[in-house]
Amino acid sequence: MQVLGKVRSSIDRQLERQPKEVIFCKKCVVSNQRPRIQFDGNGVCSACQYAYQKEYVIDWKERERELRDLCDRYRRLDGRYDVVVPASGGKDSGTVAHKLKHQYGMHPLTVTWAPFIYTQIGWRNYQNFVKSGFTNIMGVANGHLHRKLARVAFEAVGDVFVPFIYGQTSYPFHIALQFDIKLVFFGENSEGEYGGDPGTLGLVGMPVEKWADQYYKGTTVEDLIEWGLETGLLSKSDYDESDLTFYKPPSAEVLRERDIQWHFFGYYHKWIPQECYYYAAEHNGFQANPDGRSEGTYSKYASLDDCLDGFHYYMGFIKFGIGRATSDAAHEVRDGHLTRSEAVQLVHRYDGEFPKKYLRESLAYLDMTEEKMWEIVDQYRPPHLWQKVNGARQLKYKVSNL
Ligand SMILES: [Zn+2]
Repeated sequence: MQVLGKVRSSIDRQLERQPKEVIFCKKCVVSNQRPRIQFDGNGVCSACQYAYQKEYVIDWKERERELRDLCDRYRRLDGRYDVVVPASGGKDSGTVAHKLKHQYGMHPLTVTWAPFIYTQIGWRNYQNFVKSGFTNIMGVANGHLHRKLARVAFEAVGDVFVPFIYGQTSYPFHIALQFDIKLVFFGENSEGEYGGDPGTLGLVGMPVEKWADQYYKGTTVEDLIEWGLETGLLSKSDYDESDLTFYKPPSAEVLRERDIQWHFFGYYHKWIPQECYYYAAEHNGFQANPDGRSEGTYSKYASLDDCLDGFHYYMGFIKFGIGRATSDAAHEVRDGHLTRSEAVQLVHRYDGEFPKKYLRESLAYLDMTEEKMWEIVDQYRPPHLWQKVNGARQLKYKVSNL
């Protein structure tokens, strides 16, 4: 990794482990550059292997019975909440909350970790979700610190989203502790669905010890703060120790002692994003992107809440050569909704499209000029993935038909 700025190099631990030779999956369109993904001897990625298990190996009736048993054990009939559902108002969390409440008789307390900057459609979907019959607690980070951390994260790990992800994972568990709720239900295991560590595929939920590696690029909020202080992007007067509470999970011992458990709804039910979309549209008033599709992809129903969403996906394209269209199309190939060659065409057409729509808001939020932004973007282009052709930067490898 090149040295960033004058002071420190990137602390995205994933970049050190990136294979230098690029291989694309023979079944879908994802490459081996995706962090933690693994390929078998036939050139098939771990997400496609998991999709095979979902289709032919896993006994979903048995998994459904496991979920019924779990709910029977933890359901409360004394007027208290019995499950926390981290919910944005998006299609996935809306589906999970609604099914737990109406098909399993649970009493969900839904919890939202607020986006950096709500989009209009994101705010509308959040409101519609709450109106569809859910109590919700929204956690909003210290706005001054949150902006600064987003900027530090952009420079330190090449992804503004990291401070959001800290809260998205940790905050629901703080709420669970406060209300003595034992179950926290997330949607899908993204490691299985989109490709990642095959060792996590059979897990009912993600153990807290694995969060930093799986979700935070190996970088905790303490690492970001240290990076920010050393580079001068952050100063001690920007935050108080208490402001960091929701960026950190409760300790593993406390969670164990209090029997507070992470569960993936996707462990118990076969996870199909398109079906979540139809379900949430019907039951939660969920609406797709009014622009017809999201920038960087052809799809219209995922990650709509935050003005910074597009930027997060764009940096995935820069760092790994894997953009938003690749992730969407690869999943749809696995679901049997697209052929591989259709997916290849969609990737060529949309992957890496720069998200312009909220650029001005995003730069103002990050307190950064566009020039500075491109400087950082270019520092995150690994030399084994990018080349200059006639002055223009191009990926060296693109997915192609077999
Ligand atoms: Zn694959």
